[in-house]
Amino acid sequence: EDPAIDHVFVEFADINGISRSKQLTADAFLEKWADGLAMNLVLLAQTPRNHVPEGSGLGAEIGHADGTVHPIPETTMRLPWRENAVRVLCTFFHEDERLACSPRAVLESVLAANDFGFDFYAGSELEFYLLEEGPGGEYLSATDDNHECVSWATEEVADFYDRLVEWADGYGIDLTALHHEHGAGQLEVLFDYGRPLAQADTTFDFKRLVKQVGRSFDQWPTFMAKPFADRSGSGYHLHVSAFDDAENVFAADASDADGTLSERGRHFVGGLMEHADALAALGTPSINGFKRFEPNSFAPYTASWGYDNRMTAVRVPPGVVRPENRIASADANPYLVIAGTIAAGLDGLRRELEPPAPTEGDPTGDRPELPRSPEVALRALETDDAMVDLLGEDVVRVYAASKRRELQAFRDHVTDWERDQYVKTV
Ligand code: GLU
Ligand code: MG
Ligand code: MG
Repeated sequence: EDPAIDHVFVEFADINGISRSKQLTADAFLEKWADGLAMNLVLLAQTPRNHVPEGSGLGAEIGHADGTVHPIPETTMRLPWRENAVRVLCTFFHEDERLACSPRAVLESVLAANDFGFDFYAGSELEFYLLEEGPGGEYLSATDDNHECVSWATEEVADFYDRLVEWADGYGIDLTALHHEHGAGQLEVLFDYGRPLAQADTTFDFKRLVKQVGRSFDQWPTFMAKPFADRSGSGYHLHVSAFDDAENVFAADASDADGTLSERGRHFVGGLMEHADALAALGTPSINGFKRFEPNSFAPYTASWGYDNRMTAVRVPPGVVRPENRIASADANPYLVIAGTIAAGLDGLRRELEPPAPTEGDPTGDRPELPRSPEVALRALETDDAMVDLLGEDVVRVYAASKRRELQAFRDHVTDWERDQYVKTV
């Protein structure tokens, strides 16, 4: 209704958490939105390079039929970089039924399964590389290659960060901090936590904004899990807390003074341990991401937890007592990471699962390793009955189909590494 708005982007997160949208003129949008807009359902299930998976139930099986998308009015935002445009997130329907596999719907249904009556909060932390394309198409870091963790390198990306702060503000996202991470060109930008669904939207929007800001400077920000073999991977750490009125449900001592988990906090972490392999599947959407799991690094390697221990998969940081799930890589779908983490924790609470003893020091050798390959991880997810039940069979099927199609594309490819290893030697 605002005459200044000429265009509406109808946007959704696909199964990989990638932003997809169609742009309509405001008039066309107003004419159509009440009945929903037609959208090819398979878009939800495609791989990042748009391979169409078999067996998702959304492609050839239904003749590549259209569904409809319906806007979620409260997600309408002005685009900070386009004065005359807004975007609105939307929900997928197929034949008048809401699609249970759409990532936002999955998170909503997990949250509806919280029968404990307390309020969950989620806080996302994302690392990413800010890259520039060199003359030969190589990727160069936007900061000097000699920069190290929490160095002054952030001054070299001040323009990028200033614009990100400005545009995030236009999207209602409060950025709180920026630092340079361990890898040259690797940054971490923090923003405020919130209720799980709002935080998933914020995390999805944040990634979109980072990309948009980077492109406006001809840079390529990337949430790829492990873009360089010799530099640290990019993680997506998720902090989860639960409150009963003002009381921290996860803290043994409501004032957080002794820093240890309550019984319910232990059960939540027990659930994260029990379902760690399924969480690795949801949190590691690419074959590349499994290269991030390295022993002796700040990325996880084992299904472990500990107090103030960065080498574990789940860390209880000092301060407000809550678990930080460190399994996911930055390329993961925020809706599914938040849904999966809360689902695993809910199962731990329901079954009162006691976690193993917290790890002090390096967990390697003491605790089971996380899956090192996508197929092993996907099978763990598919055979994890409690997780399938909480997340829904539909999303597990669509996710696995999309990931297997991507793996097939990888297997079909003969790499330079293989030629280098074998042409002259065998
Ligand atoms: N880059 C590490 C990861 O992949 C995390 C480093 C940190 O603790 O900030 O999870
Ligand atoms: Mg970090
Ligand atoms: Mg962290």
